[in-house]
Amino acid sequence: MSVQYTRFLSNLTAFMRASEIRELLKLIEKKKVISLAGGIPDPSLFPIDDLTKITQEIIINQGQTALQYAPTKGVTIFRETLVDFIRRMRGIRVPNPECIVVTAGSQQALDIIGRVFINPGDVVLVELPSYLAAINAFRVYNPLFVGIPMDENGLRTDILEEKLKILKNEGKNIKFLYTVPTAHNPTGLTMSIDRRKHLIELANKYDFLIVEDDVYGSLIFENVDVTPIKALDKNGRVIYVSSFSKILAPGLRLGYVVAEEPITDIFEKAKQSLDLHASTLSQFIAMEAIRRGVIEKNLPRIRSEYRKKRDIMLDALEENFPKGCSWSRPIGGMFIFIWLPEQIKTHELLSKAIERGVVYVPGRPFFVDSTGENTMRLSYSYPSEENIRKGVGILGSLIKEELK
Ligand SMILES: *Cc1c(COP(=O)(O)O)cnc(C)c1O
Repeated sequence: MSVQYTRFLSNLTAFMRASEIRELLKLIEKKKVISLAGGIPDPSLFPIDDLTKITQEIIINQGQTALQYAPTKGVTIFRETLVDFIRRMRGIRVPNPECIVVTAGSQQALDIIGRVFINPGDVVLVELPSYLAAINAFRVYNPLFVGIPMDENGLRTDILEEKLKILKNEGKNIKFLYTVPTAHNPTGLTMSIDRRKHLIELANKYDFLIVEDDVYGSLIFENVDVTPIKALDKNGRVIYVSSFSKILAPGLRLGYVVAEEPITDIFEKAKQSLDLHASTLSQFIAMEAIRRGVIEKNLPRIRSEYRKKRDIMLDALEENFPKGCSWSRPIGGMFIFIWLPEQIKTHELLSKAIERGVVYVPGRPFFVDSTGENTMRLSYSYPSEENIRKGVGILGSLIKEELK
């Protein structure tokens, strides 16, 4: 007789969702399709030679420390290096290394944030649309998601204020707003400086925290002010999250949080039971990559590659997509978001697209209110220039046929 495992499961598992994107990618893994779906870096831009040398030298010269257990907040000399790196790269003044927690990718930071702040029913504010992996990480703790629309200047802070008034009147417990203000995933949009300042004002006035996910802050190709919200914050309202995934290599699984010490001390406790600490070896590798200037030397190459691919995708969209479609014009990052005519449901169109050899991400899962059925996310970071042109061409023809 087979065991009925459901009886053993905790209530929490009811809120666990597999990423629809990861499921999608699994499905097409073995098929020969052009993927404009996965938001993954171009691996030809990994600084393989530098990392080979660094890794070998670390193991030979510092192996006894680099392969040992480390403090939960992260290797101390790495966090000291980070204090300087974060100030140089993003203009954020971190008072001391204790304000940093190194995590297993920024994904773990998001889970810790959910774990530490959310009671069932607490309000978590997110952009419409928002980063799917963040939504799924928070969802496990059963918050009440409230979605705030965006426009070409990012989060609509005016609408946010209206929502905040209503939520306060209803006596709701508002915990935090999660935002990707710079080269947003999935839209590619960037929040203006005025809105960033307004957001901080609102956080102070209505008493909530801001979780700023800044993984694309150093992947900007245009001359636009992308000062982090954290650098504008005087009252310790902002919990800053970033990662080495998009500027070095995601396989290192290295991210970090910057926040006031009372918060990082609690994160430290939460993290201890998750994995004791992030990979010591990865921390040593990233530290040496920073010290030897590998990241700063490689970034211009990544930016110019992505900028070129973005332009190719924008041109291909202009050429192939019919009237009635509109899309974002990202100043950085890896994504273009597309709004199609209302009658097209992108999750229904997907199987036809895959049949013709191209896959994209339907937009709906990114919207906590399940709208966005006529939207899709395309990523230009991974596919070759030729596949970007081909893939967008196929999608354009398919959409034109649907509209006939
Ligand atoms: C890619 C990405 C990350 C990175 O996650 P890691 O766990 O650090 O690899 C985080 N946030 C957003 C919005 C992303 O697009």
